[in-house]
Amino acid sequence: MRSESAALRSLPASTEVPAPPSRADRLRALGSESFDLLVIGGGVTGAGAARDAALRGLKVALVEREDFASGTSSRSSRLIHGGLRYLEHGHLGLVFESSIERRRLLHLAPHLVRPLAFIWPVYEGARVPRWKLNAGLMLYDALSLFRNVKAYQRLSLKQLVEAEPGIRSEGLKGGARYYDAATDDARLTLANALGASEAGAVVLNHASVKRLVLEDGKVKGAVVVDHLTGLEHTVRARAVVNATGPWSDEIRRLDSQQERTGPAVRGSKGVHIAVPRSRLNIGDALTLLSPVDGRVMFILPADAFTLIGTTETATRAHPAEVRASEADVAYLLSSANAFFPEANLTREDMVSAWAGIRPLAASGYHGNSDAGSASREHSIDVSPSGVLAISGGKLTTFRVMARDVVNAVERHLSLPHKKPVTHEQPLPGGDLLKLDAELAAAKQEVGDAATGEHLVRAYGSRWHAVWALTRESPELAEPLVEGLPYRRAEAAWGVSHEMVQTLADLLIRRLKVAFETRDQGRAALRLRLDDDAVALDGAGHVVQLAAVRAAEVMAPRLGWDAAETERQLAAYAVDAQRIFGVDPSDA
Ligand code: FAD
Repeated sequence: MRSESAALRSLPASTEVPAPPSRADRLRALGSESFDLLVIGGGVTGAGAARDAALRGLKVALVEREDFASGTSSRSSRLIHGGLRYLEHGHLGLVFESSIERRRLLHLAPHLVRPLAFIWPVYEGARVPRWKLNAGLMLYDALSLFRNVKAYQRLSLKQLVEAEPGIRSEGLKGGARYYDAATDDARLTLANALGASEAGAVVLNHASVKRLVLEDGKVKGAVVVDHLTGLEHTVRARAVVNATGPWSDEIRRLDSQQERTGPAVRGSKGVHIAVPRSRLNIGDALTLLSPVDGRVMFILPADAFTLIGTTETATRAHPAEVRASEADVAYLLSSANAFFPEANLTREDMVSAWAGIRPLAASGYHGNSDAGSASREHSIDVSPSGVLAISGGKLTTFRVMARDVVNAVERHLSLPHKKPVTHEQPLPGGDLLKLDAELAAAKQEVGDAATGEHLVRAYGSRWHAVWALTRESPELAEPLVEGLPYRRAEAAWGVSHEMVQTLADLLIRRLKVAFETRDQGRAALRLRLDDDAVALDGAGHVVQLAAVRAAEVMAPRLGWDAAETERQLAAYAVDAQRIFGVDPSDA
């Protein structure tokens, strides 16, 4: 334990971070002011667009049905990548653009986007032989103008086995190591929403568009329902952007001027599972061709966990209800076991499973092509009433999508073009001078390496302000979950600075508690009834009290009384089951 005076000395003089206006003030502004632009949907696309527009000086409102990143933007493979596999489908333009974005985001958000090395092993008779892999990786590096983190390296059989000792060696010929980047998708989305708010946008989660306001056939805004009070607010705006990803066609249906054509977005479901790192202890990330169907899949390191994903299947599931099935889980486990037979992963090793829907632009499907080969490029269309819809794209290219749709808004409103600044302005928390020095300082300050690292990765330069809360209230330094790096101070910070309104906002989107505990921290709810028992998850983490501890911190800050706190805990159990429950019927 370090002395308090030492801790004080190493805190920077200013830990001031702007807090968003109160929710009441934001609601008041939403209903009473007139906006240039209303963005519907607070995934990475909508949050990015709101930030870009606000930074260009437009008066912007952003509304999100549930929480920022509650849709696809918290269910991705968490990669900021050129998209090596898109080379197979000839999408060179997309790979080029994505590679530039990867480089840019490594600079603009060094806390949230970090280099990640991948190993691609090649087996006898593989669909992608070594010569083809090497040619592809040469092209991949060329498309990043040879400015990727590092150039790819060929790996001999010996080098590959040294790097990944647990991998099946039978039939292995060697492979290659190449570079991409990893991120925290939900926090990347949040950083954009916060950036929009800090640039003057009115930003609101738990508020959805129920109707569009149409006058003389032209869109003039929308009626928005505040889900926390049930009250409706009419938002007046000169332009409206539909950035609702897999929900896009729902907003199109609200637009009575929209021609009744086929769907603009075709959903494709993708599932990931998490297992403890101790059960599948990989070194680098791995890119693999599933022995089940030859698809490209990943095994990814994620702190104390290993993620295995993803599937790719057409789905009719509603985006709010989509979840993994037992068949998805079996596919991922057997694919991973084919490469790591000694790990012999079973269903019991799985800590969590979740699914997301890729909002692929219907125009990106060519002929009868499947979802895997459909283009990830984005498209923008304007309905006769003037709603600008942006569909398709990737997490990686959100900034380009935002730029393009705000350019389209300028044209639509006949505004003079203002140069976007998002290519050079760091995302909130991204103004770190030296990441390594900051990581070292945080580890020393906090006295726990995992928590120090987590704080810098999650909050960037703002970690000082989060940790400073523990000086006034030392109990906030306590963990939210034993064995995981999250602290109670983050629940307080989430409410005051990150628009957290529910336990799911905190435990699923701001932090990764739900992904990293077997029951998403719900054991706390049962344990509370059964008195003070302690539960261990498969990784040996005590999962007791995750939700209850968070609720204790949040309740006084959000004005929850005892009955409301119980209601919030019950609502969290429902949310966690909806997202992480595995569907047995679809086995
Ligand atoms: P969403 O994140 O779904 O956001 C749409 C939002 O609109 C939702 O939050 C929803 O609640 C809101 N909304 C809906 N209706 C309303 C309404 N009426 N009023 C207000 N709000 C509303 N891309 C990468 O670059 N790298 C990857 O590694 C990667 N991996 C992926 C893995 C999987 C399994 C999947 C499914 C996708 C992956 N992607 C990846 C793609 C990427 O995640 C998506 O392209 C991106 O997150 C889409 O963001 P979005 O904002 O368009 O949609």
